[in-house]
Amino acid sequence: MNFYSTNNPALRVGFKEAVFNSMPQDKGLYMPEHIPQLSEKFLNNLDQYTLPEIAFHVANALLGSDIPEQDLKAIIDDAINFEAPIVKLEEDVYVLELFHGPSLAFKDFGARFMSRIMAWYLREGEKQLDVLVATSGDTGGAVALGFLGVPGTRVTILYPKGKVSPIQEQQLTTNGQNIRALEVDGTFDDCQALVKQAFVDDELNEKFRLTSANSINIARLIPQTFYYFNAYAQLLKQDKTKVAFCVPSGNFGNIGAGLLAWKMGLPVTQFIAATNLNDTVPAYLKTGVYEPKPSVATLSNAMDVGNPSNWARIANLFKDDQEELKKLVVGYSYNDQQTEEAIQQVFEKYQYVVCPHTAIAWKALKEWQAENHSDVAGVFLSTAHPCKFPDVFIDEVASAIHVPEAVKDLEGRAKQAVPLSKDFEGFKAYMLEN
Ligand SMILES: *Cc1c(COP(=O)(O)O)cnc(C)c1O
Repeated sequence: MNFYSTNNPALRVGFKEAVFNSMPQDKGLYMPEHIPQLSEKFLNNLDQYTLPEIAFHVANALLGSDIPEQDLKAIIDDAINFEAPIVKLEEDVYVLELFHGPSLAFKDFGARFMSRIMAWYLREGEKQLDVLVATSGDTGGAVALGFLGVPGTRVTILYPKGKVSPIQEQQLTTNGQNIRALEVDGTFDDCQALVKQAFVDDELNEKFRLTSANSINIARLIPQTFYYFNAYAQLLKQDKTKVAFCVPSGNFGNIGAGLLAWKMGLPVTQFIAATNLNDTVPAYLKTGVYEPKPSVATLSNAMDVGNPSNWARIANLFKDDQEELKKLVVGYSYNDQQTEEAIQQVFEKYQYVVCPHTAIAWKALKEWQAENHSDVAGVFLSTAHPCKFPDVFIDEVASAIHVPEAVKDLEGRAKQAVPLSKDFEGFKAYMLEN
């Protein structure tokens, strides 16, 4: 498959280049040059397949010309080695749990698949890949854990001292192997500035093959289509064929993957984009005016994005028909108070605990269903395990959270982090010496 830039359809690159460069020079985003249609036979019989089988079928349709089937299958079996179950909460309300991977968030799908694709291209003894990530907590964890133990790669995480949650810090600093953590005496912005400067530093670029494993990488988007097909498969088993997906959205990669799945033939009735006060997209869907704005801080901070980077991909998927986009995708946005109320309502109604991002999706789904769409099975995506956000819950709810074994295991492990100041020379010296 070749990929073009959303800013220049004439620019075509192969999959390897799209994966290693993340973003074209023209600052567009890579898109597949044609979108394969999956067969009726496959789509009508999705319920006969497991998640890894579905993933292989979908990935092979997109990448079959790039990666031999045997290898692609091995990559998928290794990357997608955890479940993505739907759980029925009431009639026609299901939660799709995407937090059963190592970092307890849906970003594991993208990070694990991308890391193994990169390793596959590096297998013939190419120079080691050095991944640099600055993190305010969550994304860095998924990237670090995604690369853990992957041959030919090494990850350096920079995180702001004292500004990540205890679970996040444990996820970042107790891995060893090919993962190292730098605890920077500064803010997230300082960490990001260090990484950015490293990418333009001649000496570092000469010595190392640096990559950011960026969140807009096409190899992170593709595996996120898998769980939409798999969720539909699980609904088919319950004789549900009309489905709406409600997606808590920030950079719009997750819902973008759902729309790609739809373009490949998945029969979805409706997509619902649920946001916090960073409502650039819901506002656009109502007014027709796309107006990016500075982000505002909220409780659901993984969605604090005022200018969603994947929007260009979605607009591009619908380039011929913006009206169709507005029919297929509706938007809702909620403030922090509504988010807290939704967490409480979900808990009281179903004795189920959702993270703040997921709570917003539940509320949007319920609001949409109340507008006379009750014959459609609604699935809201749970993007992270609630135990990652202990501070947002009142005690009664917090004590109902079932903390996964993997998290309990982390507690006993020793923190390994190198303290650094926020100045570039110190960071550079560390890189060159280690
Ligand atoms: C990243 C993230 C989101 C937003 O996903 P996008 O693909 O950026 O829209 C939502 N919830 C959680 C928990 C996240 O980590």
